[in-house]
Amino acid sequence: MRRPIAGCGPVTRRPLDLRSDTVTTPTARMRSAMAAAEVGDDVFGEDPTVRALEAKSAGMSGMEDGLFVPSGTMANHLAILALCGRGRAAIVLEHSHLARMERAGAAVLMGVPLLAVTTGNGVVDDVRVEASLARVAPIQMPKLGVLCLENTYDLNRGLVISPAETAAMAAVGRGLGVPVFLDGARIFNAAVAAGAPLESFTRTVDAAQFCLSKGLSSPIGSVLVGPRDLIAEARWLRQQLGGGWRQAGIIAAAGLVALDEMVGRLAEDHAHARELGRLLAEAGLGVDHAQIQTNIVRVDVGGAGLTAEAFVARMAARRVLVKPVGPDTVRLVVHREIAASDLTVIARAAGASVAA
Ligand SMILES: *Cc1c(COP(=O)(O)O)cnc(C)c1O
Repeated sequence: MRRPIAGCGPVTRRPLDLRSDTVTTPTARMRSAMAAAEVGDDVFGEDPTVRALEAKSAGMSGMEDGLFVPSGTMANHLAILALCGRGRAAIVLEHSHLARMERAGAAVLMGVPLLAVTTGNGVVDDVRVEASLARVAPIQMPKLGVLCLENTYDLNRGLVISPAETAAMAAVGRGLGVPVFLDGARIFNAAVAAGAPLESFTRTVDAAQFCLSKGLSSPIGSVLVGPRDLIAEARWLRQQLGGGWRQAGIIAAAGLVALDEMVGRLAEDHAHARELGRLLAEAGLGVDHAQIQTNIVRVDVGGAGLTAEAFVARMAARRVLVKPVGPDTVRLVVHREIAASDLTVIARAAGASVAA
């Protein structure tokens, strides 16, 4: 928990860190669950706490099995490799984490070309344009291997894709004859915002992953869920990547607490994000309120005559950390360690940064 740090001069507070929700630290209950966790060698499939987390994740998503992995990136890679195979193309959405942050890994490690579909809001009713390229010029185009969805969509906006929209896009994938994967790194934010259970998003796709280490405050880890055969294949691929881990129950224990105790409170982050958006607009920044659907606030600082870089530096000088995401856009991510009382502090720093 954040505490003022007494220095030589006046008491200074720790920076308010809104760069990401990954900065959240484990709760006291996670720490004690970790200390008490029963463990074994997970490469031998003998860590009971890991198995409990995988079984719980599978149950919550209506899938047959789960695989606990160190990161969302590894979960994405394993899913795509297992569903698609090297050399076939993965269709991804324009502003997705896969399209933006995982291109090098897809090319170098997976050997999977990414075909990005244009979409402003994460919903596509037709990927024929991209798919037809593979049909009209089959010899010159990669064969299609998987359609990848994302929810919440766009790491800089966190837009909610509804279960109905997910089902419709899964049908598009089926129409193309490819399996459908859901990168649900922040799916619990979508589930809480939509008031729908995890299973309503996962039942129409072939496999999905979610992160425990973002808004849910777990220190490390993601879970890939899907059919038993696919998870067995992913487990085998994970070992090749050096992702076989031993007494991982120490961290799976925190993941179990995250699933039990940390999902419901995300609504509080969403309310804080809306309130922060209101305060930042008052401070003279460009905010699209309709796009504040979960815990992410994207702000345009160009209208205030600033570059993102300048704004980020001025905020940091006031001990508020935010992330530049474009030449004149900045993202603020609200999470468990940003309290309601911090919102006015953040807005005041923003107002002073604009005026400076
Ligand atoms: C964070 C994120 C990932 C990657 O997760 P890491 O644990 O950081 O590797 C993948 N997809 C989306 C949508 C994300 O937000």
